[in-house]
Amino acid sequence: MTRAFSGIQPTGDIHIGNYFGAIQNWVELGRRLGKQALFCIVDYHAITIPYRAEELADRTFEAALVNLAAGLDPAQTTLFVQSSVPAHTELTWILLTQTPLGDLERMTQFKDKSGQHSVLTGLLAYPALMAADILLYRADTIPVGEDQDQHLELTREVARRFNFLYGETFPEPRALHTEKALRVPGTDGQSKMSKSKGNTIGVLESPGQIAQKLRLTPTDPARVRRSDPGDPGRCTIYTYHQLFSTDATVQMVNWECRRAGIGCSDCKALLLRGIERELTPLQQRAAELRRQPDQVHQALEQGRREAAALAEPTLEEVRSRIGLYGAKRTSSGLQ
Ligand code: SF4
Repeated sequence: MTRAFSGIQPTGDIHIGNYFGAIQNWVELGRRLGKQALFCIVDYHAITIPYRAEELADRTFEAALVNLAAGLDPAQTTLFVQSSVPAHTELTWILLTQTPLGDLERMTQFKDKSGQHSVLTGLLAYPALMAADILLYRADTIPVGEDQDQHLELTREVARRFNFLYGETFPEPRALHTEKALRVPGTDGQSKMSKSKGNTIGVLESPGQIAQKLRLTPTDPARVRRSDPGDPGRCTIYTYHQLFSTDATVQMVNWECRRAGIGCSDCKALLLRGIERELTPLQQRAAELRRQPDQVHQALEQGRREAAALAEPTLEEVRSRIGLYGAKRTSSGLQ
């Protein structure tokens, strides 16, 4: 692993699925890789489906703030906003011209989303933008959930095709899966936690708001009465315990649930204590940053400069390899 790239969309409040699935992983990667870990708030991806323009900048700021509050250190890693580095869109255009339409149309996420929204061309081009995000930095390690595997495979194909046509330019990136990313279910107990499904627990929500959501979260359906034994393996609350509670509490819940020694309300109250323990320090740091927003703006500006410094040489090489006039003129010294 030499360079990692990962993106998060500023499409709504950051939830615990993002926190365990992406942000914690980023913080850890940042500690290991330092400036070779690039983290990007991908606002250009966010506008491929209908969105509210008046909220986008605030949500982008919010995504940065939460990442910083969660422990991402801008002195050690690079955190930046996608649209602040125009090389992303230029490389996207170049890659799009090399990408067969059928490769984009067969993406599962495109098929799913185009059923929900009117199809904008940006939605079709989304995987080419993702490929550009990664290839621009010649990143070889991509922390993603399994739902992004198909897009990453397309990125590899795009890199291979470009290398074949124009000479070795890009490494083929590999996915770095995290176990927890795959295991955070939504509060509806039916699907993965997702902003679009409205089944999230936000990392900045108050204990009262979270308690209200937990009250409505379904538990093992076998526990109709307090005296019915349950199976924690069929309960979303138990999955949350595994993320937030101490090992001793997880073991106790596992044991007591099976023999009806604990009721679901008490189990949820216990979980809430674990959630508060984990999220309170993050929420306090977020409140401090909110009082000093310049710290967030400065971190993003520093990240923009660092990302642009890495992106520009790649883009210049790409321009030259595909024969663009400006690049040829620069390299040959023509006036
Ligand atoms: S006791 Fe806890 S783990 Fe068992 S079903 Fe109730 S909420 Fe779920």
